[in-house]
Amino acid sequence: MTSAPSTDAIRTVDAVVVGAGFAGLYMVHKLREAGFTVQGVDAAKDVGGTWYWNRYPGARCDIPSLLYSYTWSDELRDSWRWSEKYATQPEILAYAEHVADRYDLRPAFLFETKVVSAVFNEETGRWRVETDKGQVFDARFCIMGTGCLSVPRVPDLPGAASFKGKAYVTGQWPHDGVDFKGKRVAIIGTGSSAIQSMPLIAADAAQVTVFQRTPNFSLPALNTPLTDEEVAAFNEAFPIYKSLLDSGEPGIPLPPKGWVPSDEELAPLVEQLWNGGGLISAAMIPELMRSERINDAAADFVRARIREIVKDPVLAARLTPTSFPIAAKRACVDTDYFATYNRDNVTLVDLRETPIEAITETGVRTSGAEYPADIIVYALGFDAMTGALLNIDIRGRDGVALRDVWSEGPKTYLGVAIAGFPNLFTVTGPGSPSVLSNMLNSIEQHVDWIFDAIQHVQKTQSALIEATPQAQDDWVAHVNEEADQTLYPRAASWYVGANVPGKPRVFMPYVGEGYKKRCDQIAADGYVGFALSR
Ligand code: FAD
Ligand code: NAP
Repeated sequence: MTSAPSTDAIRTVDAVVVGAGFAGLYMVHKLREAGFTVQGVDAAKDVGGTWYWNRYPGARCDIPSLLYSYTWSDELRDSWRWSEKYATQPEILAYAEHVADRYDLRPAFLFETKVVSAVFNEETGRWRVETDKGQVFDARFCIMGTGCLSVPRVPDLPGAASFKGKAYVTGQWPHDGVDFKGKRVAIIGTGSSAIQSMPLIAADAAQVTVFQRTPNFSLPALNTPLTDEEVAAFNEAFPIYKSLLDSGEPGIPLPPKGWVPSDEELAPLVEQLWNGGGLISAAMIPELMRSERINDAAADFVRARIREIVKDPVLAARLTPTSFPIAAKRACVDTDYFATYNRDNVTLVDLRETPIEAITETGVRTSGAEYPADIIVYALGFDAMTGALLNIDIRGRDGVALRDVWSEGPKTYLGVAIAGFPNLFTVTGPGSPSVLSNMLNSIEQHVDWIFDAIQHVQKTQSALIEATPQAQDDWVAHVNEEADQTLYPRAASWYVGANVPGKPRVFMPYVGEGYKKRCDQIAADGYVGFALSR
């Protein structure tokens, strides 16, 4: 039994920041620059968050690297050169490390340490944050940069523990890599992680068997090295890009609002899905997520490409997604995913026809056959958006647990604050654009906004800032209304929590427009919907 830490052992700080991914790094930097004392904490051994954990072969960004970058420092931008259109995980991790080195961020963090609880004390108006190592922090502000995709789903398939070979989870990949040479590999899942890793694993392994529950849409990355000219052109246009972001515009040119293209106008737009623009090409199709006609045209185009690429028509049919609108699950961006099924050493098992019955000592057994494997790769996704927050015992006013408040799904104001949890902020939390956006932009927007809110609390000599229940209810209703006008809820996706058994089915990200402008207006008008108290 561990005894309660003495008052001396409790470290008093202005803020605790949980997470050393891009959210936590920037938050710690901003607060520290402004003179706040900050304690960062991360379960990982080092910085990087997503890019620390997801080291599977082929892991890359699906937003072009030049855009998947911080914009808050010109000298940081000048000190970094991306080598490819879509950077690999090692390069993105190196970027996070570069940021940590340049701004000396590591000393602010405790690594290999998990925050297990954060409890608000009504009397002191402060948060008591405890770690799994027994450290206790007494903090005025608590900022959760815990990540939307940071709690990997580990295999709960019957018999998983009995497997005698090696098993790996994409989101917890070993640091010294995995040798697939000459091995029989089972890959379970066909989301982005599997779609990125499968072609590289197949190039090495003796045999790859992919276990697919739902076929997925994927767009070609057409990845290339970045030329000096491309980098120079981006740098030249950067001031415009930055000013667009700062004013709450998307930062990339999108189709004019209200334009509903005719079938003739649509055809060339849809073809752009195959030009390497990935998710940006999808965003360039007006009304993609609001019009069935337009979505069907885009989906049909991709389905036709799959049939062209995959030589065996039966296999092509199995790989063709039909059960949800394109982009209602995050579309994947791949290199040679569909073409790899033409290799002799790759087999697809369609779990809709023959479901998995068990993992055995020697492989995977479905209702149709037993597939021997030396290695199983689990690419099962994440307990997204709420998982990391609910793993922490967060208690607000009256000792109320966030787990209870969110038992029917997450409720937030703007995805950044929760009624009843004063001075606690969530970076890219549910109810904000978050995972539907370029996350680096959304992280920066939230960190900047949270920082300004904290400054406002200081300037007004307030003690606490908290979302009002009314503002939160109105926001939750608005988030749902916006989602209901789109095709997103038609997919059983992780956006709605459908991938985690028992998780409430609520569409979590915010799909409406003008989010940043709204946040900025709320701040400019004196933090409308927030109560400030002394
Ligand atoms: P994370 O990077 O997830 O960091 C959160 C950190 O918090 C983790 O290190 C975790 O260990 C720590 N943590 C959580 N809970 C605790 C706790 N209780 N105690 C201590 N530490 C804790 N987004 C894009 O926009 N474009 C992309 O191309 C893209 N590619 C992706 C590829 C993969 C494989 C994955 C999984 C996600 C991708 N994303 C992408 C989303 C990605 O998560 C974000 O872009 C971004 O990296 C999130 O940064 P973050 O700091 O918010 O969270
Ligand atoms: P995911 O998209 O949730 O995919 C998980 C896969 O596992 C799905 O195919 C799912 O099938 C399958 N699955 C889950 N449980 C299963 C079970 N019990 N039996 C059989 N199959 C099962 O997860 P992810 O691939 O890790 O990607 C998650 C998100 O992370 C992405 O959407 C993206 O936002 C981000 N990401 C981005 C990149 C990138 O390209 N930059 C790469 C990786 C991840 P069902 O579809 O039937 O549920």
